[in-house]
Amino acid sequence: MLAEALKPVADRPERSAVLCDIDGTLAPIVERAEQARVPPEATRLLADLARRYAVVACISGRSALDARRLVGVGAIAYAGAHGAELLWPGDRSPAALPEFERHRGPVRRFAEAQDGELRLLGVRMEDKGPIVALHWRGAPDEEAAHERLRTVASAAEDDGLATHWGRKVLEIRPPVPISKARAVDVIVARPEVRAALFGGDDATDLDAFAALDEAVAAGELEAAVRVGVASDEGPAAIEQRADLVVRGTGGFLAVLAALAAV
Ligand SMILES: [Mg+2]
Repeated sequence: MLAEALKPVADRPERSAVLCDIDGTLAPIVERAEQARVPPEATRLLADLARRYAVVACISGRSALDARRLVGVGAIAYAGAHGAELLWPGDRSPAALPEFERHRGPVRRFAEAQDGELRLLGVRMEDKGPIVALHWRGAPDEEAAHERLRTVASAAEDDGLATHWGRKVLEIRPPVPISKARAVDVIVARPEVRAALFGGDDATDLDAFAALDEAVAAGELEAAVRVGVASDEGPAAIEQRADLVVRGTGGFLAVLAALAAV
């Protein structure tokens, strides 16, 4: 049954893309993101698939370089920051997608203008390509740092930039909707790609599913396979909108093995 569902991509690997999320799909979910590990078997299978499929890529909310470090395969592509940046095999640094690249300068200049004062408050600046993250976890006075960042966020919005609050982090983002769909669009637009599979477990992966639907409707792809990785915490839509539902990271590992077995 697994082999049957994967047929549209597995039948013609040289014309197919294999795309997947990382956390919750390849790597079991853990309490702290930095403790996540991709099982060695998944790393081995992705390296194997890279030799046979037109494109193999991981699309993650992590930065592209962090994604590559975690997965550990140099021969595949990585889309980071939810699809805002792309790191092709062999590249030393990721490229922002064009619509984000235009805003890289303004985001950077805005963040740098705040840097001196924020540094005094113990706020740490993280370069995530087209996004700059300002972390206040561990600042000497976290409340004061947080308070100051609220002012920084409204100043960023006044400057026409977007902001996103996470767990003790403020992200300054380009004023462009960020979605995994953008990365999927770029990959499936490659002329050698005629079919694609995407596997994911969470709400942001539904955007990638939708991008595959649209590529098929537009005739850019002949076939697409949406693999929903079911979990207790994931949204119901990930199962409802999938062509194939598997259980947890173990289930997705079986998908990779089946793709490698043909
Ligand atoms: Mg995930």
